[in-house]
Amino acid sequence: MIEVVFRYDPSAPPEVPPGSAAEAKEVLERGNQRFARLADLDVQAGERVVLPMDLRDFGVGDAMGAAPRQEPFAAVLGCADARVPIEIVFEQGCNDLFVVRVAGNVVGSECLGSLSYASHHFPSLKLILVLGHLHCGAVTAAVDSYLQPAMYLPLATNYPLQSIVNRILPAVRTAALALRRVHGLGVLSNPGYRAALVETSVVMNAAWAAYSLKHEVADREGGIEVVFAVYDLVSRYARLPLEVDPAVGSDRGLFKPPEDQAGFDELGGRVAGGAFVRSLLRG
Ligand SMILES: [Zn+2]
Repeated sequence: MIEVVFRYDPSAPPEVPPGSAAEAKEVLERGNQRFARLADLDVQAGERVVLPMDLRDFGVGDAMGAAPRQEPFAAVLGCADARVPIEIVFEQGCNDLFVVRVAGNVVGSECLGSLSYASHHFPSLKLILVLGHLHCGAVTAAVDSYLQPAMYLPLATNYPLQSIVNRILPAVRTAALALRRVHGLGVLSNPGYRAALVETSVVMNAAWAAYSLKHEVADREGGIEVVFAVYDLVSRYARLPLEVDPAVGSDRGLFKPPEDQAGFDELGGRVAGGAFVRSLLRG
């Protein structure tokens, strides 16, 4: 048995929120590492994990009867996928994160408006994170319509789905070019090409969204940084999937998006040429 306990200690001093983007990034990275290690716990030994929680953020305790003030230290744009619950994978509580979730973590005008609102109204906000994830269904749909244009036909009459896929297609094209650049034209007949294209596209899609938020939201506000990462459903780490085994640790964490086309080419090359994608290409 493993117990995960939320503990509220009214005598504990209120937690000091991260005062800078670097601190906010560190808090999220540390939280994700604790979460990912849950699987290392010994079920037989009956281990217990205690997560401190401040009930004042729920309007309990000395704040009883008054709505707590909204004070997130980070905003997250994530996929709607049920396997990626944002607060849980970063071990954060109520009032810590301003979360926007949409299939494929694409930047549409409503998402942009929500994140722009957060960056204007919450002085506590220091960081914006775009979190893609491996095995993403929305990215897979975009990859399939890229590889077999006939699959795009049903989307012609399905505008809502089409608008999601359309926003992902540039990342798929960038990923396809990166795979071809690194492995040559022969990569197209590789048994694992589709899987490699999906996961490379996941990275490029998250990086594109982060780049766009940096220019559309963060740069206008000043003091807010934008980072991106890809959540690995198997290891539970937020990472840049370069290594086959995330236990290596060198590709874990949150990353700054590229600054220009050359940076995107470099990122695509690193992912397409990394051990993780090479292992997928082998099928
Ligand atoms: Zn997804």
